[in-house]
Amino acid sequence: MTVRKITKNDFANFVEALIRTEKVIGVQAKWDRFDFAPLESAEALRLDYDVTLQPPKKYFLPPAEVLLTFEVGGPYQSQLDGQEFLLLGVHPYDMVAINQMDELFRQDNYDTHYMTRRNHATIVACDVLRPSDHVFASSMGAAVVRKGYDVLLTDVGDSFLAEAATPKGEKLLARAKAVPADPQALKRREDVWARNKKSLNRHELKCDPAYLPKVLAKSYKHPVWEEKAKTCFSCGSCNQVCPTCYCFNVQDDVNWDLKTGQRVREWDGCLLDGFTKVAPAHEFRKARADRFRHRLYRKAAYVPPKIGGQIACVGCGRCVGACLPDIANPVSIYNQLIDDLGIG
Ligand code: SF4
Ligand code: SF4
Repeated sequence: MTVRKITKNDFANFVEALIRTEKVIGVQAKWDRFDFAPLESAEALRLDYDVTLQPPKKYFLPPAEVLLTFEVGGPYQSQLDGQEFLLLGVHPYDMVAINQMDELFRQDNYDTHYMTRRNHATIVACDVLRPSDHVFASSMGAAVVRKGYDVLLTDVGDSFLAEAATPKGEKLLARAKAVPADPQALKRREDVWARNKKSLNRHELKCDPAYLPKVLAKSYKHPVWEEKAKTCFSCGSCNQVCPTCYCFNVQDDVNWDLKTGQRVREWDGCLLDGFTKVAPAHEFRKARADRFRHRLYRKAAYVPPKIGGQIACVGCGRCVGACLPDIANPVSIYNQLIDDLGIG
């Protein structure tokens, strides 16, 4: 894999040139926070951000999308979004989440809509410069990432190191004014990785994440689920901001002409009342405590077998910041279980 060094000035020129020819999505300031949005100038790009409000997941699995249009009792037409785009500034924990989603949407029923967007994306990841208030990616083994991206950027002070990991990434970097990385700069990149592996850890998990399924196997009837759920608003914010939550609802909407319509897919969330409602109005996970427990089991017991044992929480910390009653932090719940089981 080629690693090149680009001065910050040349990098800004590179981004300006890209904006003129491609659809570029980049991290920008939003109020006093950050978010991914279409980029209109290199100056607006903020690779020094701590965390974005929403993960980049929305560019592959939009909050709402039309899957197909149909004529009632007649033919249908799939709606696929095949526009190429460049996603600039994805942090390692979000890249790990995208890698997990890729695996999930590829297996069993191949999801053409997700995969079409994914195949049309070029991802430029970047190492974290500034830890956010609630990040715990170090605990989850997601502070550094070495696959999934097309290019990985690391800020090494006066310049960026840019590593192309795919032919798409090579092609992209060929457009930048760059020189081969020198040993000193490569050493600085190693230092950034070593630092981040430890320091993106505002909440420290008391066990190896691989051990969490065993912890949960003994915790189904633990009182913590009832205790925490007492103050849960069922607002679903913890689901909405999560880079690894991917549940959705699909429904057919018939137009006013009663002849045509569309099949729409929208994000759903396991904390929301009604998430498990089925005909005829039966709701099989109605109790709030059961819904609360389900989210934590899904992350560390139900999804891992589908993705080679990885835990489906990458420690971005967004749910911690989004939860008003402050009960959503997976580390605080898992640590409580670990303590009570006496295996800490
Ligand atoms: S559960 Fe919370 S910390 Fe874990 S990936 Fe989802 S939002 Fe981030
Ligand atoms: S755990 Fe917090 S963020 Fe999640 S649904 Fe309950 S109140 Fe909302």
